Amino acid sequence: MFRLLIWLLLGYIGFRIIKSLTAPKKSMTSSTAPRTGEETVQDPICKMYLAKEDAIVGTLDGTRHYFCSMDCLEKFREQLDHTHHS
Ligand SMILES: [Zn+2]
Repeated sequence: MFRLLIWLLLGYIGFRIIKSLTAPKKSMTSSTAPRTGEETVQDPICKMYLAKEDAIVGTLDGTRHYFCSMDCLEKFREQLDHTHHS
């Protein structure tokens, strides 16, 4: 009886491994790898690319801009002010 349980367990583990290998890995991608199928945006200040959902959205001058941090948003806003008033 005990041996049967072991075999059942092994079979279950094998089944899970095969399933994880064949299953689409959309949800299993690590955060370090570049995520595909996700929209990326560029920070106009530090030129860094980031996922749209991680970006800070600033609507400035009627258009949407995406930033990695509030610092970059502030810098961009300053630049806009300078170009408008000089
Ligand atoms: Zn930035």
